[in-house]
Amino acid sequence: MSTAGLDALATGRRASSPPVIATGRAPRHETDSRLCGESHPFRHRYSANDTETSYGMSQITALAGVALDPDEFAVVAQRLSPIARRAARRLSLRHEVTGALFDEHGRAIVSSDKPNVPAGPIEEPALHRLLRVAIDRSRDMEAWRPDRRAPRWPTGKRYAVALTHDVDDAERPVSYRPAIRYLQSGDVRRAYWEFRSPRRRPASAGWDFDDFCGLEDRFGFRSAWYFSVVPRRDAHPCDVAYDIRRRRYRSLVARLDRDGWEIGLHSSYATREDRPPLRQQVDRLQQQLARRVFGVRHHYLRWNANDPRRSWCAQFDAGLAYDTSVGFLRRPGWRAGIAAPYHLLPGAAPDIVEAPRRELLELPMTLADMHLPTDDDAAAIAIALEHLRRTREIGGLAVLNWHVGHWHGTPAWRRAYEAVCETLAADREAWVALPRTICHWWRVGRWQSRRPSRDDR
Ligand SMILES: [Zn+2]
Repeated sequence: MSTAGLDALATGRRASSPPVIATGRAPRHETDSRLCGESHPFRHRYSANDTETSYGMSQITALAGVALDPDEFAVVAQRLSPIARRAARRLSLRHEVTGALFDEHGRAIVSSDKPNVPAGPIEEPALHRLLRVAIDRSRDMEAWRPDRRAPRWPTGKRYAVALTHDVDDAERPVSYRPAIRYLQSGDVRRAYWEFRSPRRRPASAGWDFDDFCGLEDRFGFRSAWYFSVVPRRDAHPCDVAYDIRRRRYRSLVARLDRDGWEIGLHSSYATREDRPPLRQQVDRLQQQLARRVFGVRHHYLRWNANDPRRSWCAQFDAGLAYDTSVGFLRRPGWRAGIAAPYHLLPGAAPDIVEAPRRELLELPMTLADMHLPTDDDAAAIAIALEHLRRTREIGGLAVLNWHVGHWHGTPAWRRAYEAVCETLAADREAWVALPRTICHWWRVGRWQSRRPSRDDR
């Protein structure tokens, strides 16, 4: 894939060839197997000759649910150029790369992740603020009228939540640490039960799949599981210990897939150094599953921190539909400044239009178990529920990530997850969906549900 447009985005230069305008029409009926197919015909009108402005503008209009024809797009892009540029810089994580410090895993240290920064209230994602300005300045345009805009989420839903799990450490030795912690705090009863639970099922310590599935199933939820296909004995010491080719994993993955859970790739630690190449990992998982894999999350959230575009390009080339790695390491929130899906490959528009009409979305990871305290149930629950409340308030998307292997070892995380599921089940305006379903909705479904106008009938 050509990276000319991406280079232009990163450097602020113009692309060497003028962006191509999409002219195709979206199919009226999109099936699961065509998740990466065409999207709405008005979604990729890169008519401006400035890739950064076009990209920022197209993400803001997507967030607003506004479909513009090329002339309208040109007017809006010119009018809102400074806003669009700010959006583009934030979404492409350029603010992180410039002058960044890196941790021992080579990940950019962003201010929100610094250990000495006190956890304050979760700020509003920057792009949602910019969107309000954009709407305010576009009131005179027909396409921005509320009744002409596509809904952000399905009818009756105010916000969206994807439940996901990284499968890192599914078979861990029995741990008595939580029991000891309870004993030290004088809670003998809890210590007793914590002591008993892993002991009763020593073969299952860390094997939390049935616990998670049982809880989610009780509320009618389904989640996504990201499995690695690269065991550490063949790769890096930070890679996972398990080998997914073992019979125990083969039957587990087949069962999850059969029962409606989504299987995605947890790409290996050294993926950004091509060890092994991402495409090989996707192929390996697809072969085992005998079906398409749509999404990926990088193990250790270790994408190419010097040049995130290289990681996104590799994902695009591997045929993936979405990434869900962009999140903070230590606290909940919106790292790219947006609580919604967004496109990762703006400058690739010409390639997308000319050949395989595909897109790569980011579903930003916004809350993970590792963001929560391990020893304070009430605090862990409060942080998780506050995140849901904020997401609901701004009508956003929350992507939750609870790791396999801590169900018994870290009760505070388990209780927070239980509270999350109960809260979501009680909220009729919460849309809990698989990441691949949310992708399909963002790219196709919401535009089809919009009342057809004379322009796109
Ligand atoms: Zn991991």
